[in-house]
Amino acid sequence: MSDSPEAPSTPTFDLIVIGGGPAGYPAAIRAAQLGMKALCIDSWLNRDNTPSFGGTCLNAGCIPSKALLESSELFHKAGHEFAIHGIGVGTPVLDLKKMQERKMAVSKANSGGVKLLFQANKVTGVFGHGELLGNGQVKVTAHDGVATTYKAKHILIATGSAPVELKKIAPFDGDKIVDSWGALDFSAVPERLGIIGAGVIGVELGSVWSRLGAKTVILEALPGFLPMVDAAISKEALRQFTKQGLDIRLGAKVSAVAKGKTDVTVTYEQDGETKKETFDKLIVAVGRRPFTDKLGADVAGVALDERGFVKIDKNYKTSAAGIYAVGDVTGGVMLAHKAIEEGVVLIEQLHGEKSEVNYNAIPSVIYTNPEIAWVGLSEEQAKAAGHEVKVGSSPFAANGRARALESIAGQVKFVSDAKTDRVLGVHMIGPYVSELCAEAVLALEFAATTQDIQMTMHGHPTLSETFHEAALAVDGHAIHSANKKK
Ligand code: FAD
Ligand code: NAD
Repeated sequence: MSDSPEAPSTPTFDLIVIGGGPAGYPAAIRAAQLGMKALCIDSWLNRDNTPSFGGTCLNAGCIPSKALLESSELFHKAGHEFAIHGIGVGTPVLDLKKMQERKMAVSKANSGGVKLLFQANKVTGVFGHGELLGNGQVKVTAHDGVATTYKAKHILIATGSAPVELKKIAPFDGDKIVDSWGALDFSAVPERLGIIGAGVIGVELGSVWSRLGAKTVILEALPGFLPMVDAAISKEALRQFTKQGLDIRLGAKVSAVAKGKTDVTVTYEQDGETKKETFDKLIVAVGRRPFTDKLGADVAGVALDERGFVKIDKNYKTSAAGIYAVGDVTGGVMLAHKAIEEGVVLIEQLHGEKSEVNYNAIPSVIYTNPEIAWVGLSEEQAKAAGHEVKVGSSPFAANGRARALESIAGQVKFVSDAKTDRVLGVHMIGPYVSELCAEAVLALEFAATTQDIQMTMHGHPTLSETFHEAALAVDGHAIHSANKKK
């Protein structure tokens, strides 16, 4: 710890939050709501040099990717689905510049909203890089280089994550080899697009550019596809994505990447053979690392683990007194809603409340078409955890609303405990399952039994009827779809 003396005029707060992403800004707002004097510092700079709150999620992650997923889906529908509805639009013309401008506007509206929320809740927001000095002090270097030191009783590290770079074989160059942020900003559709990593980013951004016309190849090192997803759902996802034209090559270990003048050639090993593929653009999407660059963690006595994540206990305390950490920088699943919950819960705990995060009920969503969503244990995980399992599923093909939407691919699958009837997990692939997942999360949160869902009336015609049918199918009571033979 540094013994840097505190200037007499050091502005003092109850809470300083370093990082204004999903982990940080809601924590600052909740703190202010509970009467704390809160400061939130954020170093984010957009490509146009404008600072903004909202972190990766609002500026280069969740929100811009969903904006492009929506636009590209509409483009695809205009070319392939409108005619089925009897709507003739001819061949749709892509105005990518306009699509990108809309994406930016969506992001900016959201990040601008954070600023307004700060004003409304009397949170002090400052732009600049925060550095821990020890003794409850944080130095903030603004983008113009001016430094100010602040002090607080509590400091929250919410500095998030950054893309993993394959430094040795495919370092980012911001042009031909890009990370997810670069991949959201292409100014032209690449003719041949390569993606290393068939994880969430790989399939979401692969879908965007493939729908807009890029011949897209995704190289995945692991032999299995989306291993975190229930096997029945990931099998269906691979079938659907392949049908859409995404060329997903599993067990493909990239060994070299060579840049040409206008292209990039990737060498990889698959099934014992050395193979090559040439692309116009290459996206590297192999995960994210904790971001603690120039944070002063060592100065303040904040311990990191061997992978660089900030070490915390179950109450988000770091190894340094008065310093806490939440969100991506602490590891676990890297999801915005998990980061938000952690930040809010920490503040409520500091306020003396018995608040906690239910880590068994974190929803996950992949925003492809069909969408994938799940919460709780997969069938495989439930069995491995020693549960006697009963399962039931229902296809969207048996759902009237899905037919009307021209979206019958996919299913809902329930995993329940055979002895207690308790719902252990729900796994879905299909239309708007991102929204249906909320009911599944509630079921887990309320420790619902399968029968609770079976006895709950669902509106007709809604996609949620497939959720209901899947619960009925667990006990062989499904009306509109086949029940598994006992
Ligand atoms: P971040 O959002 O990374 O925010 C950290 C902030 O801290 C940043 O603004 C950073 O500039 C700032 N910062 C860092 N160091 C300092 C410092 N020393 N001083 C001041 N400020 C600092 N998650 C979902 O749940 N749903 C999705 O649909 C989804 N889509 C995604 C799509 C993409 C392409 C990507 C890349 C991610 C996506 N994620 C999604 C993940 C999600 O963005 C993260 O889990 C979430 O942003 C984590 O929040 P955070 O606040 O911990 O970190
Ligand atoms: P990821 O962990 O989801 O996927 C990375 C994939 O790359 C894995 O399948 C991994 O096996 C593969 N891989 C790793 N090294 C490789 C190599 N050398 N060659 C080939 N494949 C390799 O990570 P991501 O897709 O980069 O996303 C990062 C994080 O952002 C995720 O944790 C995710 O939670 C979050 N995110 C969430 C959403 C969402 O919630 N919809 C969307 C995008 C990103």
